[in-house]
Amino acid sequence: MRLRLQITGLVQGVGFRPFVYRLAEESGLNGYVLNDTSGVLIEVEGNKDSLDSFLQRIVRERPALSQIYSLQHAYLEDTGFNNFEIRDSDEQGVKQAYILPDIAVCHDCIDDITTPRNRRFIYPFTNCTNCGPRFTIINSLPYDRRNTSMRDFHMCAECEKEFNLASDRRFHAQPNACPACGPWTGLHDRSGSLICEKEEALEKVVNLIRKGNIIAIKGIGGYHLVCDAASEEAVVMLRERKNREEKPMAVMFPDMISVKEEVHLNSFEERAIDSIEKPVVIVRKKDNSTIAHSVSPENNTVGVFLPYTPLHHIILRKLKKPVVATSANITDEPIVKDEKDAFTRLSGIADYLLTHNRDILRRCDDSVVRIAAERQVPVRRSRGFVPTPVIMPFKFKRPVLALGANMNNTIALGIDNRVFVSQHIGDLDTPLAAEFYEETIDDFLRLFDIVPEVAVADMHPGYFSTKFGEKQYGRRLVKVQHHYAHILSCMVENDIPEDAVVTGFAFDGTGYGPDRTIWGGEILTASYKGFERAFHLRPFKLPGGDRAVSEPRRTALSLLYETFGDSAEQLALVPFSPEERSFLTNMLHRNINSPATTSMGRLFDGVASLIGLRHRVSYHAQAAVELEQLAFRSDEISAYPFTVENGVIDQRSVIEMIVHDIRAAAPKEVISRKFHNTIVKLIIQTAELLKEKTGTSYAALSGGVFQNSFLLENSFYGLRERGLTPVIHQLVPPNDGGISLGQAVYGNSENISREY
Ligand code: ZN
Ligand code: ZN
Ligand code: FE
Repeated sequence: MRLRLQITGLVQGVGFRPFVYRLAEESGLNGYVLNDTSGVLIEVEGNKDSLDSFLQRIVRERPALSQIYSLQHAYLEDTGFNNFEIRDSDEQGVKQAYILPDIAVCHDCIDDITTPRNRRFIYPFTNCTNCGPRFTIINSLPYDRRNTSMRDFHMCAECEKEFNLASDRRFHAQPNACPACGPWTGLHDRSGSLICEKEEALEKVVNLIRKGNIIAIKGIGGYHLVCDAASEEAVVMLRERKNREEKPMAVMFPDMISVKEEVHLNSFEERAIDSIEKPVVIVRKKDNSTIAHSVSPENNTVGVFLPYTPLHHIILRKLKKPVVATSANITDEPIVKDEKDAFTRLSGIADYLLTHNRDILRRCDDSVVRIAAERQVPVRRSRGFVPTPVIMPFKFKRPVLALGANMNNTIALGIDNRVFVSQHIGDLDTPLAAEFYEETIDDFLRLFDIVPEVAVADMHPGYFSTKFGEKQYGRRLVKVQHHYAHILSCMVENDIPEDAVVTGFAFDGTGYGPDRTIWGGEILTASYKGFERAFHLRPFKLPGGDRAVSEPRRTALSLLYETFGDSAEQLALVPFSPEERSFLTNMLHRNINSPATTSMGRLFDGVASLIGLRHRVSYHAQAAVELEQLAFRSDEISAYPFTVENGVIDQRSVIEMIVHDIRAAAPKEVISRKFHNTIVKLIIQTAELLKEKTGTSYAALSGGVFQNSFLLENSFYGLRERGLTPVIHQLVPPNDGGISLGQAVYGNSENISREY
């Protein structure tokens, strides 16, 4: 099967295009390379294996005088190129100033900091033209030292010499620094008093981690909270201090060898961990893993990553063991980035703080990805990727600002043929998050120097982002339905042609429907011009509204109520006291505070509770995550029955048979697997039904439910087997972090040409 590999990113230096040309010829791949002031775009076609090896060789064998700063890649449908060519850059296009993402420390700089005779030995702010912070230290363009947070550090004579010597690796390296002239670290106690500085501080931090302390460490885009990943006691203490959150935390390892001791890796996962972006990669723990259970409780996966700054390298080399390195924040608030904030917001969490005096001008959390169907699927797209643009299959007629959703928020700018998606802003539920949100919008408009002609928001009247848009953009604001935005984001990153129609599977927890109910199990017939709701789950109620989100058992009760009636004995399957149960059934019966939903996310929650897996959640999608992991442990191939009639998928027969299996004492793994098989079957069947009707074989899978890699992978391969064309996310997350991309696309559509 032939595929097209699309690579976009930022590359500089001599001989890159001829190199790509030679590599493509040698590998027998057709396509083109284009490199202009806005970045590089490469497309090659061939089978998956030769494309994989091409991608690896581009990074490994690049010419000595060229540098790759960022590379995002996606596997798309092939278009039938018949040769390989170097294309002329498009001079018509708007000259987009380019701002580089923060780049993980390079091997040469690691050599510098680990060589005792080198003047940068154990210097944590070592960088060169090939690596170092960019996005998080740039105040404004052009990218000169005076416009960065390095402006107050004056280069010493030796650094100055490197900076001016064309043959030096640090020629025009704007953040160039050394121990004599650059920033330094300081160790503080939780009250903010300085304990020691520089090398002594690093030495001490290592000992403090060994002794079980929690240290807040200032990194590139914010602070991490760090502790010994093998110490159950330290990790439990960290969780206690962070409001008992149960969200999985990421683990940073000294090197790849130590990663492999603790987790299972396939070649795609290994490549992702070691890629220039150095994201957190979600992988499976080994049974004999020494990582503390509390790092990712009730979860057989863990997010792992490698050190990406000299500071992290130095600490982990000395420590020689993995550490928990989780974003320093209090639940749902943005990551802490400066000292003032650190000393107030983190004083109750960290025992000590390792700070430094190079300011972080822009927050940027670690990126998170996971591998599914041999592709890299983003969970959170931030450091290392932002602000590399997503290339569009068409041009924007006007500059567009997309305001994003309410959870996992990002914003985006559509300019020319590019969309710049912001770093992860997060959930917009706290005043600090709202502040970060407004700052980021101002920041992006200023950096990219545009005035949006259209702003796009979600239809949800309660979203902070929507209200902000109404207030700020008035008549320039248009609104787009949540699930349609999910599908648009998936279409555009997969380069779906302008006139094409797709079947869009938008499965998530919550999105506002035009009928004012909560949508979330939506199968749409969509194009860039609009959408129709082809199928959806049979609506069920959420007793207590939002409370049902944090208590899956409420959803389970409602599903039983819909299936068996309001006085059925089956209602006793979920743990409620008789009083609570009659209170809730009464709510359902009389329709009090019980909004109707077609949410697929809630259906997963309800099933998780029904089989006794989890009745309350402490973080978003916890029940669904645990249900997914069970599915992997069974090899059951059967599915539950469901009916499709008049556009409604009736899930009651699924619930009925699950109850039957529970009564027959079927193992939880088997029930979970059968339930997952059912959703896969539902996707394939409806895709086939709609193919007959609309003629399209495209099936776009988007929405937070597709973070479930079991579901994503099995749907992907199942659709393929049936001759359909699945398209999935590889550039932006399937969750609401990708909504801003879809909104930006909507801002370009014809049907909103209005008289503003
Ligand atoms: Zn370097
Ligand atoms: Zn210097
Ligand atoms: Fe969503």
